[in-house]
Amino acid sequence: MALKCPACGFESAEGAQWCDFCKEPFAKKRPQAASPAAPAPAAPAPVPISLEGLPPEAVEKLSAGLTPDQEEKLPLAPRWLRPLALAFVGIVLFSTALLSLLVVMKMRHAPR
Ligand SMILES: [Zn+2]
Repeated sequence: MALKCPACGFESAEGAQWCDFCKEPFAKKRPQAASPAAPAPAAPAPVPISLEGLPPEAVEKLSAGLTPDQEEKLPLAPRWLRPLALAFVGIVLFSTALLSLLVVMKMRHAPR
């Protein structure tokens, strides 16, 4: 008994995780795993694709693993500087709030 693809109608071997032709996943666990190169549904004959050994999960993993690496390579600031900058911003905000509070309290207690 063969599995018929819901996307292109190609019949894959029983127990297949995804379509042999368009890589449409049969188990609808990942709605995001859209086929990267889906052919037209009215394909005359199923042509074997060279991407056969590359399931969409692997492509997804590959792209997901590459993105944080690229972000890490961006020379925005040294890694140790980030908490320091955060602490600096926090101190500045805190002192500003304290100062404005002091000014307000001074104005309230000022003699008329
Ligand atoms: Zn298919």
